[in-house]
This record gives sequence, structure tokens and C-alpha cells, in this order.
Amino acid sequence: MMTKPRVGLIGLGAIGQILASHLLRAHGRLTVFDLDPERVNALARSGANPADSARDLGSKCDFVVVSLPSPSAVESAITGADGVLAGLAPGSIVLDMSTIDPQTSRRMYAAASQGGASYLDAPVSGGQPLSGGTDGARTASLTFMVGGDENAFERAKPVMAAMGKHFFHLGPAGAGSTVKLISNLASGIYALVFAEAFVLGAAAGFDAPKLLEVFEQTDAKSFFMTDYLAPRLLRDDFEPGFSVRLQLKDHRLAAELGHELGVPLLLNQVAIHYYEMMAAQGRAENDVADAVRFLGVLAAGPRSSSKTRGGAQVDPRSP
Ligand code: NAD
Repeated sequence: MMTKPRVGLIGLGAIGQILASHLLRAHGRLTVFDLDPERVNALARSGANPADSARDLGSKCDFVVVSLPSPSAVESAITGADGVLAGLAPGSIVLDMSTIDPQTSRRMYAAASQGGASYLDAPVSGGQPLSGGTDGARTASLTFMVGGDENAFERAKPVMAAMGKHFFHLGPAGAGSTVKLISNLASGIYALVFAEAFVLGAAAGFDAPKLLEVFEQTDAKSFFMTDYLAPRLLRDDFEPGFSVRLQLKDHRLAAELGHELGVPLLLNQVAIHYYEMMAAQGRAENDVADAVRFLGVLAAGPRSSSKTRGGAQVDPRSP
């Protein structure tokens, strides 16, 4: 591949839109596609080239970044009749940043290999202050967990470097997806730990800023609590970020992985039920930090709301 690849991006959602701006800046040009034409048009206004389909995009690029919301969306955009592989030339690379199951990643790898292209499962996360999820995408400090051929990984590094800071090659196809599911199993459970701690605190009369000040200095502290969840609670901002819908998808995929490997994942099961209840209550498109407000609703009672004092509180009546 030439040194400056022709880069395309499929999926212009909460994180994809941010990635698009980095790729456009780094490469000077970018071809984009999303099923939602509004999103494509918005990027075209910022200077990107709109594609008519994933296949059309594949025919115009030799490096395709994918950021889609589910295994079935990835499958249709890559191997579908109108998918990327139908248009992509041999020697090209597909860098799939979606969080999906390892089996789908392996199938995408096999299909790409058949046509002489390379597929990398390369889901992302963040582990430094203000680098989780869309925060990390904004600051281009994402961590990539990558599976696939080492050689393709090395070739993909310059493109990944426009979006992230840490790149781990973890093994063959599916290895990146596997480690990402484990990471999100942990972070999704942390969000629930945060919810229980702060709603119990509120019911006992301690506001969120005070609890946070204390927990910064105790072993309750986690990066996800102090840098991702708490700031959202304090500024009363539950726009995704990382949605409950996607968190639920990741816990379900982690459950499949647990079944396959014979590992009982008890807390993961609790997380599935918790996020399912949130989704059933119309909260699927809220950020995962909304878990704290949801528990506030469940906890609402004469003793829980009257005692809180000052600062950002968990209002059990807010939506
Ligand atoms: P999103 O739901 O906000 O956006 C998904 C986009 O994909 C939408 O614009 C939708 O129209 C488009 N789309 C769906 N099916 C399509 C198809 N077949 N072809 C073309 N476009 C299609 O999702 P998001 O938050 O941007 O996340 C994308 C992926 O990145 C997910 O797998 C998610 O788990 C992962 N991820 C997200 C974050 C985050 O903070 N949002 C962090 C890490 C990983």
C-alpha cells in the first residue's frame, strides 16, 4: 500500500463522527458512509467525500475503518451484497473498531483473506483521565485492542495513531474483540457499583461532590468513577457518550463468551438484567452513567429523598 492510503470510514455514530474529524485532518481526505444520509451529509459539509454504499466506499479506498453498533451491522457492511469487500481491491486493510463477538471477527477475517485483503478486529477503549469512550475519541487518546495478522497491524499503525495512543496486538483474528468484551464487562459492572455507592450515599445524606472528594482517597476509587461517571453526574449530563444500548450489547456478547469458555459470569448476568430494565424504561439511548439516576428512581421513598443536602444529588423524579 502507498504511504498515504485512501481512507474511508463506515459508521458515523457517537464515536464515528469524532473519528471522522481526526481522519480527515490527518489524511486530508476521507470517504464516508452511514445508513443515515443526514450523518453522511453533515460530514460532507465538513469536507469528506460521501459514498453511496459500503461497496461504493470500498471501491474508492484501500484502508477502511468500520465503527458500527452490532455484529449484524458489521456483517452486512463488510460481507453483504453491497458490502465493502464487494468493492475492495486486494492488499487493502479493513480496521474494524466496532465492539463485536470474536466469532464474527474471525468470519470477517476469513472473508477478507479470501479476496486478498486484511481484516483487523480493533475495538477501542480508554484508560487515562478523560480518555474513556467518546472522551478518548475527542482527545485522540484511545487504546486499540487488535487481533489479526501482525503485518497488517504494523501497516495500520499510522492510521490508528490519528485516533489513539496505545496499540496492543493481542493475537490472531478475534483476539482484539475478546479482550475488549472483557474490558467492557468490567466497566459496565463498575458503572453499577458507582450507582449503588452514590445512591446509597445520597439516601444517607451525602451529596456526590463530597463522596467523590472522599473516594478520591479511598480504595473505592476507580478511573471510570472519577473521570467518566462522576463528571457526568455532577453536570447532570446523560447524553451518550456510551449508551446503555451498547453496554447491554457488550454484556450479552460477554455472556456468550463465558458460555463458550465455560466461565460462570455472575455479575455480568446482573449487569444484563440491570441494563435490560433501563432499556425497558426508555433509557437505552442515555449514557451508562444514567444507571445512577435509574437506581435513584428505584430507591425513591420517604427516607431517601428528604435527607440529601446540597450539590449534585440523585433526583429520583428526573427522567
Ligand atoms: P452509534 O449507535 O452511536 O452509531 C452507529 C452508527 O452506525 C449509526 O450512525 C448508524 O446509522 C450506523 N449504521 C448502523 N448499521 C449500519 C450499516 N449496516 N451500514 C452503515 N452504517 C450503519 O454507535 P457508537 O457509539 O458510535 O459506537 C460504534 C461502535 O463503537 C459500537 O460497536 C460501540 O460498542 C463501539 N464503541 C463505542 C464507544 C463510545 O463511547 N460510543 C466506545 C468504545 C467502543
